[in-house]
Amino acid sequence: MSYVAVDIGATNIRVAIGNERGIKVKRSEATDSLSGPEGVPRQIAKMIRGFNVEPAAIGVGSIGPLDTQKGSIGETPNFAFKHIPIVSPLEGEFGVPVRIMNDCNAAVIGEYLYGAGRGIDNLFYVTLSTGLGGGAIVDGNPLNGKDGNAPEIGHLTLDPDSELVCGCGCRGHWEAYCSGANIPNYARILLRNRDLNEGLLLKRVGGDMGKLTSEMIFDAAKKRDRDAVFVVKEVGKTNAVGFANIVNAFDPELITVGGSVALNNPEMVIGPIKKGIDRHLVNRRPEIMMTPLGADVVLYGGLALAMKLAKGAI
Ligand SMILES: [Zn+2]
Repeated sequence: MSYVAVDIGATNIRVAIGNERGIKVKRSEATDSLSGPEGVPRQIAKMIRGFNVEPAAIGVGSIGPLDTQKGSIGETPNFAFKHIPIVSPLEGEFGVPVRIMNDCNAAVIGEYLYGAGRGIDNLFYVTLSTGLGGGAIVDGNPLNGKDGNAPEIGHLTLDPDSELVCGCGCRGHWEAYCSGANIPNYARILLRNRDLNEGLLLKRVGGDMGKLTSEMIFDAAKKRDRDAVFVVKEVGKTNAVGFANIVNAFDPELITVGGSVALNNPEMVIGPIKKGIDRHLVNRRPEIMMTPLGADVVLYGGLALAMKLAKGAI
């Protein structure tokens, strides 16, 4: 039996074939965000056909927000069009069951069944990527919420009077400080009163701090640039508050961390969280570690979903 896993991201679509033992083959393509709402399922179908297998079921982890009733992606800021149908076009194409799930909720299921979370019934997964999100296993059950969008930890408010406005329009959300897309905004505020002329950052952006990126900041911090190190530490302190909020609300045994910002800079991201979290905790501190599944964590969740679907377990 071949089970198909799909990971729909704003930048890349990844498709894999696997079974109980894990992923056997996978491929990745840049997401077709230009050909209209039907372009995305068409691209996924083509990628699946490229494997030359008969799928038994297809499990999809996707950027949200989702409409799980309709099996589609809703109004995501990442595409120029709205309401991308996923489930019906793929069911029509392959004649097998298809299910879509929020990518972080898929990821935590992947961690639970294939990764560091095996046998751990209170588990949390955090992605620090272009955006910031999470997924939870609570008392052995995946947490979904009424619309399939729990737990949106990136949109927990850290400071309602903050200067930083989140992509969702609210002020002072955690994501507005610490996601890959927003760290530069936070950095510009943090560095406002510092003389940047001696440092690397101003040179890297050619004098225009509007061109600052997260990659530039972490790269400069690796070269021990004073200003970049300062920003990375402050981002870490803010992440420590966010992680403490998770622990106080969900009381997990283990938190695993993934997403491009964390995967590319594991020490600089995890270190300050471990250092800063205790002073914000009431619940017992859990273990915090990078996901051993790396960039495949959502695919593993999609694979688990596909196997459950094929067996009629959901
Ligand atoms: Zn927000």
